[in-house]
Amino acid sequence: MHEYDDDNIFLKIINHEIPCDKIFENDDFLCFRDIAPQAPIHLLLVSKNKKVPSLANVVKEDASWLGEMIVLSTQIAKDQGLDLSGYRLVINCGHEAGQTVYHLHLHIIGGKKLSGSMT
Ligand code: 5GP
Repeated sequence: MHEYDDDNIFLKIINHEIPCDKIFENDDFLCFRDIAPQAPIHLLLVSKNKKVPSLANVVKEDASWLGEMIVLSTQIAKDQGLDLSGYRLVINCGHEAGQTVYHLHLHIIGGKKLSGSMT
């Protein structure tokens, strides 16, 4: 399991040390465009105050804010006009899944017909 690294890029974005193309923000969450989009709409949703590196680090007490984050992602997807066309939520967990930033985040991907392959 990864330790949380305070040098990670998403924490810098949250702390306004690095700019982002912001889509949504409230006290708890920030959503911004991925810098290397895999689809016409490719957003990243992060908690602003939970320093959890990866899904592998999650414990039962995280259920509430993780649930909130998923519900919020559906609202953001709707605001982006994706609710009827469809979209994909992705959480990469660890090296073999391709996780590169160790601040837990949700990808919201849509705006085109996505590949049927999950791997
Ligand atoms: P992961 O592979 O960890 O699931 O996803 C990390 C994502 O963060 C990648 O899709 C990558 O393109 C994106 N990313 C990496 N650095 C930056 C950055 O500085 N700004 C933004 N907006 N996205 C980034």
